[in-house]
Amino acid sequence: MKILVKNPYNGSVISEVKASTKDDVDREIQILKKGQKKYQGLSSYKRFVILKKTSDLLREHKKKFSHTIALESGKTIKEARAEVDRAVQTFLLSAEESKRIKGETIPYDSVPEGEKKSGFYIRVPVGIVGAITPFNFPLNLVAHKVGPALAASNAVLLKPSTKTPLTALLLKDTLYKAGLPGDVLSVVIGSGEDIGNHIVSHKDIRVISFTGSLNAAEKITKSAGIKRILLECGSNSACIIMDDADIEHVAERIVRGGYALAGQVCISVQRVFVEEGIMDDFVSALIPKVKDLKMGNQMEEDTDIGPMISKGARDRVISWIEEAKDRGARVLYGGRPIDDTFIEPTVITNADESCKIMGEELFGPVVVVNKFSGIENAINKVNHTKYGLQAGIFTNNLDVALSAIEGLEVGGVVIGDVPTYRADPMPYGGMKYSGLGREGPGFAVEEYTEIKAVVFNTP
Ligand code: NAD
Repeated sequence: MKILVKNPYNGSVISEVKASTKDDVDREIQILKKGQKKYQGLSSYKRFVILKKTSDLLREHKKKFSHTIALESGKTIKEARAEVDRAVQTFLLSAEESKRIKGETIPYDSVPEGEKKSGFYIRVPVGIVGAITPFNFPLNLVAHKVGPALAASNAVLLKPSTKTPLTALLLKDTLYKAGLPGDVLSVVIGSGEDIGNHIVSHKDIRVISFTGSLNAAEKITKSAGIKRILLECGSNSACIIMDDADIEHVAERIVRGGYALAGQVCISVQRVFVEEGIMDDFVSALIPKVKDLKMGNQMEEDTDIGPMISKGARDRVISWIEEAKDRGARVLYGGRPIDDTFIEPTVITNADESCKIMGEELFGPVVVVNKFSGIENAINKVNHTKYGLQAGIFTNNLDVALSAIEGLEVGGVVIGDVPTYRADPMPYGGMKYSGLGREGPGFAVEEYTEIKAVVFNTP
């Protein structure tokens, strides 16, 4: 069977890829098991060289990668180039981590029964990592799994989104060109329910590293069995704007954080809470900047907002806007569907907390701007959700910033910028239903290794 990969802009077929079967998955896992045993014998210096070379090749082939990313994901060519730049760094960070996989000595004799005992612990690879990735960052989110997993001497079975498999296949070729020994990385293509679930429930996969929706994550937790699961799920990220903030600058950052990738980013700005005294000024600064965004073909240099990934995704977002309107929300700008896969960049205000656009992950080019009074009230509003990935706050007041750090139930608090900020070395991941575990090569390496304790009895 073939899977058609389509350009979200016009539905044209870019390529066809062979769909993997469950038998293919079983076969690949047996191959990877053998490959991993050999790969484990490679020195950390040799793993460093392979991952560093991969980073160099990504830089060298930036044009090809960014073209493929933009074409299959619908993100703009400018956004795709930025993604390649980030993946160059993610592989470089992973290369560096391959030299830092360390243990430490344990003071066994610090308890009465430890007399004459000494030893240490080491970190060993888990074996095969099952990496399952979404459509929106087809290169860098794959890099965040494959890079650290290979740095830690694991084999990887990768299942990218069926919407964006071409970048993953290109990356696999690049890793092998960089000198990765054979049978250490396999890419299988197929649906989540079928192939994804088969990987998740396979007993020879020791870690599932998943990035995607909460809905899929909930299914994964049910069928994984006894293995480690790392979940990077969605969010409805919020940003607090206090009345001492620089309104023009903040409005510019909200536009960057709210409409990049047509809002299809896990840390997209979805909910903005503005201190009531500056609400009108903030809205007046925001709307012209939203109006200036140019929607269109993602391959054109001057496009700011590309299409959404599918008509289905577009229709869902529109229905949530309509629901919010029925519950009293007001559309300040945009709100209409255009062609098959576009939505005008949209600003909504006065949305009730019971609306889907407030409680669920919207994943579209829509920002909700509501007002608040007092930092405690703002923190409560941000926390009023099952998600907890990142939050941003604009303030010049240190006490207010400290209250936000303490009170916000999220995996990352960004002071002075939008929640959409992510640097690749940082510990990245969510609290509550936004996930389990942390990515960022230094942190991911810990998730992809087991601790082995060693005891010497020296009577
Ligand atoms: P998705 O959940 O539909 O798919 C993600 C991946 O999971 C795909 O490869 C899919 O085939 C697979 N999958 C689906 N159901 C599965 C199952 N039952 N078992 C195993 N695998 C399954 O997500 P998507 O639409 O591709 O991406 C958007 C979502 O990803 C959003 O919710 C977004 O917030 C999230 N995301 C999170 C992060 C993060 O780092 N926290 C980053 C990017 C995207």
